[in-house]
Amino acid sequence: MPELPEVETIRRDLREAVVGQRITAVAVSGLRSVRRHPDHRVFASGLEGRTLLEVGRKGKYLLWRLDGGQALVIHLGMSGQLLLAEEATPPPPHAHVRLGLSGGGELRFVDPRTFGQLFLSRPRSSGTVPELAHLGPDPMEDRLEEDRFASALSRRRTMLKPLLVDQRFLAGIGNIYSDEILFAAGLRWDRRAASLSREEAGTLYRAMGRTLAAAIRARGSSLADAQYRDLFGAPGRYQLQHRVYGREGLPCPRCQAPVVRQRWGGRSSFWCRVCQS
Ligand SMILES: [Zn+2]
Repeated sequence: MPELPEVETIRRDLREAVVGQRITAVAVSGLRSVRRHPDHRVFASGLEGRTLLEVGRKGKYLLWRLDGGQALVIHLGMSGQLLLAEEATPPPPHAHVRLGLSGGGELRFVDPRTFGQLFLSRPRSSGTVPELAHLGPDPMEDRLEEDRFASALSRRRTMLKPLLVDQRFLAGIGNIYSDEILFAAGLRWDRRAASLSREEAGTLYRAMGRTLAAAIRARGSSLADAQYRDLFGAPGRYQLQHRVYGREGLPCPRCQAPVVRQRWGGRSSFWCRVCQS
């Protein structure tokens, strides 16, 4: 599933290639992708003729500000891709929503598993979208100071991995980056958040910032079984720098002990028993 670094990469691509263009045509062929709109024609007519002013991001969601005051919210779900193509290129299978652009290209929302979605919303004066009000702070986008992060941890009895992937606590982190962040911080996935010393909380805070920034620089992670591609269809490169995620049985890059995969509640944690405590 695309996480913060992947969605941020697409956001930067959109800023470069699509911002300022007008949406000239809207084609919806997969109603599940626009399921928040009982009538998909409301979605299409709300977008047609609109100009994309700015692209923001909150966690794993893209927020397009449009002229006229509405915003287009896009969530890639498990397998969604947002691809910019020449209009003449035949769309790939599962291109459920297509947006024609004044620059001549076409944006395609491709989503085989249909967990992703697009919807129109009206942001409040604060800029927040009501449908995303439940999300916690975005670690790269919102001002999340170390002291505030440390005190939020100290109030939670939850284990670290479930807490990091809880979108109400922090928006944008999922399975891949939680494992990489916890490895970088030297902390076990099942440590109780409140058990961390102030120093450990600071280490986790810095590991989070560094890991996410490095993943954005490498344009995100494309896994063998997953679908993530950037706006131009190219894979990311951060999977080449993963130190524990997806590396069960391979040597830990720090101590050479085999990386362990531990299953819990329908998820897995990859971690090193020697380096993380
Ligand atoms: Zn190790």
